[in-house]
Amino acid sequence: MADTCASCGLDLKSHEEGDGPAVLVILLLGFLLVTLALWVDAAFSPPWWVHLIVWPPVVGLSGLWMLRVAKATLIAMQFRHRRHDFDA
Ligand SMILES: [Zn+2]
Repeated sequence: MADTCASCGLDLKSHEEGDGPAVLVILLLGFLLVTLALWVDAAFSPPWWVHLIVWPPVVGLSGLWMLRVAKATLIAMQFRHRRHDFDA
């Protein structure tokens, strides 16, 4: 987490999101990607090594992207509803 927002200079040092975004990403992305992998397997019946090549980068990149979005959303929601946390 950056100390301050690059756009508006908001102090983010006191912000602590804990495991919230990671748990959200694990559950949501796990459900989506396992469903997608099962569908790909059922629809196209690719050999096993195709799954081995395709899914690790998909999981890694979408996880990194989604973690950023989840963290930013959590900070935005906290800023909107619990603004006093940022004034400390
Ligand atoms: Zn900002």
